Amino acid sequence: MTILNDKVTLNTAPAVIDEIGSAWVVHNPRFGPEGTHFHTYGLLTPYFRGLTEGKLRATRCINPGCPVGNGNGDLWLPPRADCPDCHQPMVWQEIDNPRGYVYAFTHVARGGTGLEIDCPYYQIDVKIEGVGTILKSYLVDRQPIKIGDRVRARFHTGADATHTCLDLYWELDA
Ligand SMILES: [Zn+2]
Repeated sequence: MTILNDKVTLNTAPAVIDEIGSAWVVHNPRFGPEGTHFHTYGLLTPYFRGLTEGKLRATRCINPGCPVGNGNGDLWLPPRADCPDCHQPMVWQEIDNPRGYVYAFTHVARGGTGLEIDCPYYQIDVKIEGVGTILKSYLVDRQPIKIGDRVRARFHTGADATHTCLDLYWELDA
């Protein structure tokens, strides 16, 4: 019989990264050392770098000519390099002490090959206070949850950082 921790853990080693200019290039050895996939985060590098520093950074359109944001657009997470409405570069803004609630969730009992999150876990869609979009992420707690439960952001930082989107996770905010 397997004893499960009450917290979700990751089955992954930190991804090796190179920095080219200001962009991170992640080495993803999905098929062994000879099958490494190289992926650049490009203009979204500040998001991933921020996670490893315990910071959640969103993007916002400040173009006064934007037909939707009118110079004061919503915060977007996941971030966008360019505004989808006016195609102009967006600016970065850190979200202080990110909190929100479970907008929707899936209980993942069995993941596919290569999944780096220990099952079972909850994949959650989080409505973050002050953010206009809804972010897909995962919950570290395994106890039963319901839509509307309050959550707060946590991060894998420093030596624990994976350099992937897994560096952001959420815990129940009692
Ligand atoms: Zn815009």
